[in-house]
Amino acid sequence: MKSKTQAKPRLAVFKFASCDGCQLSLLDAEDELLALAGAVEIAYFPEASSRMLKGPYDIGLVEGSITTHHDAERIQQVRRQCRVLVTIGACATAGGIQALRNWQDVGEMARVVYATPSYLSTVKLSTPIAEHVPVDFELRGCPINKAQLLELLCALLAGRKPSIPTHSVCMECKRRGTVCVMVARGLPCLGPATQAGCGALCPAYARGCYGCFGPMETPNTASLSERYRSLGRASPDIVRAFRGFNAWAWQFRQASEEAEHP
Ligand code: SF4
Ligand code: SF4
Repeated sequence: MKSKTQAKPRLAVFKFASCDGCQLSLLDAEDELLALAGAVEIAYFPEASSRMLKGPYDIGLVEGSITTHHDAERIQQVRRQCRVLVTIGACATAGGIQALRNWQDVGEMARVVYATPSYLSTVKLSTPIAEHVPVDFELRGCPINKAQLLELLCALLAGRKPSIPTHSVCMECKRRGTVCVMVARGLPCLGPATQAGCGALCPAYARGCYGCFGPMETPNTASLSERYRSLGRASPDIVRAFRGFNAWAWQFRQASEEAEHP
């Protein structure tokens, strides 16, 4: 007979190439974390506990991108162990800031940065998890919004669709009554192409969005690039705007490459 503890859904949290910030967002949930720990068995979470139980797991959260041959094999094992696989954050969903190397010679970068580059074992590209295995849900952000993570976990436990917005940051500006920085101040802002989730934080402090939540569901990046040009921004500025934390998300990647080779 199963004990009450064993009957709880088993949660596992895995890390690949990343800064750990999205895992910290889960630990930062504080009060809710106790309730979560009551609802699931935290079976594998090396960032938080030395108690690491073997799979299978009901829910796997994956932070980080794939940057080594070893990790490309490990994500296949992780996928086999998890009934539901969720990627969390810009690294896992879009390759992360480390994907900026995807347009460079990674060997040359290693030679410049490391005293003994031969110690490194890496692949040419930093790629999102979904380029390697099927993913059930992608939660965006750099880092993720902890309220969105809790909503996602609650939805998975309840067997319902998560209520995570796919519209743009502009909608959040309108909701909180923030005057548009692009219209009123002529500042470039990636908000029209970026997925909501931060509460339009940057425009609320009179600066443009730089896209840390990644592309919204249907971004019109061509139109936004034109708007940047009308504000006096040249092609290199547009390339830089789209090549941030989510540079390898295909919508931003395409926009940056179109700006680079118009
Ligand atoms: S400030 Fe940026 S995010 Fe806000 S409404 Fe204007 S363009 Fe959209
Ligand atoms: S960069 Fe954009 S998505 Fe990120 S916190 Fe600022 S407004 Fe929000």
